[in-house]
Amino acid sequence: MQKTCKQCAMAFSVTADDLAFYDKVSPVFNGKKESIPPPPLCPECRMRSRLTFRNELSLFRRPCSKCKKEMICMFASDASYSVYCHDCWWSEDFDALHSGRDIDLSRSFFAQLSELIALTPLPHLVIGDCENSDFTNYSWQNRNSYLLSSSDYNEDCYFSTYLFRSVSCTDCTFVSDCELCYECVDVKQCYRSSFLQNCQNCSDCLLCYDCHSCTDCIGCVGLRNKHHYILNKQYSKEDFEREKGTMKQERLQSRFETLKMSFPREYADIEQCEASSGDHLRSCKNARHCFDLVEAQDCAYCALGLKPKDCQDCTGVPGSELSYQVAACPENYSLQFSAVIWPKSAFLQYCLFSRSSNRCFGCISLHKNEYCILNKQYTKEEYEKLVPQIIEKMRGDGEWGEFFPVELSPFAYNETVAQEYFPLTKEEVLKRGWKWRDETDEMPKVSKVIPASQLPDSIDDIPDDILNWAIRCEATKRPFKIIKQELEFYRKMRFPVPHFHPDERHKRRMALRNPRKLWQRKCAKCRKGIETTYAPDRPEIVYCEECYLKEVY
Ligand SMILES: [Zn+2]
Ligand SMILES: [Zn+2]
Ligand SMILES: [Zn+2]
Repeated sequence: MQKTCKQCAMAFSVTADDLAFYDKVSPVFNGKKESIPPPPLCPECRMRSRLTFRNELSLFRRPCSKCKKEMICMFASDASYSVYCHDCWWSEDFDALHSGRDIDLSRSFFAQLSELIALTPLPHLVIGDCENSDFTNYSWQNRNSYLLSSSDYNEDCYFSTYLFRSVSCTDCTFVSDCELCYECVDVKQCYRSSFLQNCQNCSDCLLCYDCHSCTDCIGCVGLRNKHHYILNKQYSKEDFEREKGTMKQERLQSRFETLKMSFPREYADIEQCEASSGDHLRSCKNARHCFDLVEAQDCAYCALGLKPKDCQDCTGVPGSELSYQVAACPENYSLQFSAVIWPKSAFLQYCLFSRSSNRCFGCISLHKNEYCILNKQYTKEEYEKLVPQIIEKMRGDGEWGEFFPVELSPFAYNETVAQEYFPLTKEEVLKRGWKWRDETDEMPKVSKVIPASQLPDSIDDIPDDILNWAIRCEATKRPFKIIKQELEFYRKMRFPVPHFHPDERHKRRMALRNPRKLWQRKCAKCRKGIETTYAPDRPEIVYCEECYLKEVY
């Protein structure tokens, strides 16, 4: 089925598999299935809607609306929402049904849900079991870390996103099982390495792209099992050390960029997968149009997660099954059109910020609830009778079968991950009727502010006193501070202090990754058709898997 996206007017297809999936996840009330229609938005616009409900990195300080304790929070200090600190939101005394209300079948369901969001206490952050790890969000089980998002099981790590099971890493994005790594993107199982992209099992490497199992390599591209290489040229151990000591950073960087552009790219990063398409996929089976997934099975249009099964249009659904159009809903079963649901919930539709609940419709901040609508308790019989009436009204209003409208997000568009993948200007955002927040940095209380260009080049010349200064970012002019653990990391790794604000560093790393979008093009060598995240007008030489493997092995 060919459709036209109602938001961006692009043509997109709905496959027979998609239709079978919508039928499979259509919820049943009172023995009658409420069919979910094909989506009115294209896969990219669907992903954008979900991402507008995910604010990872715009963090603020404000008092808890209940106990008044100062807390770090993902809702702006001046946003009118009621926000609870960790202790107050997770307390057994907290009952979200206080804000419950009757459904009015003559009015828009989304309008009533929007009013409920404005009244119900929301959780300050999405975190669990973190220890001594301030400014982390969407994260679990981190220790002694600072400013991590979407990162789990790390220790002594700073300023990173999508970082997993790593130790002593700083400024990393989509990195797992690494130690002492700095400024890496899409890297796994590496040790004491910096400025790597798409590398694995490397140690003591610097500025490399797509190298596997290499040691002591600098500025290399597409190498396998090599050591003592500089710019893809082999050196003896002695010559390597001598060369390394005399290299000029700018010259190395420019020669590396030239080498990287002249070397073919593989059409996608897909490893040990069966019948799968997308990018950054490991051990997946039948994962169609998917990104950043591991061991996914029978999924489509999904991103981010380990072991999702039978899911479509989900972002951040590790261990979930039969979910459709949800965001940040790990280890749940059969959720539709919902966001930020902690593990162990099932059969929810249009729910937000909830935990351990079953069979609820249009609820916020639930805690172990069942048969609720707009945070009001019903009996099973009442629930099964009323929900089909709401769905009928939603069908008439064109609301049923769509994710929450962007206007319902409690975040400004540019605070969310949507702005990273689908950047818009302030004017474009406001024209669509969405929220925008002007960046206002509070100047940190410091003894002096130094422009980044005046920082000494060598880490040896950086005094301890820098911890009392603010640095003005070379690109954005935003002030930022260096934390003590971070300074120790740079000293240990022998790297200069960064010249860019942490947000700008994150943005630059994200810019190194391809978009989550697929194009049809031909292998530059054998002309076979490939589906790839490299747009046809990009300058890289893109090969199919077969041709690429011949090139690197
Ligand atoms: Zn669209
Ligand atoms: Zn509190
Ligand atoms: Zn080929």
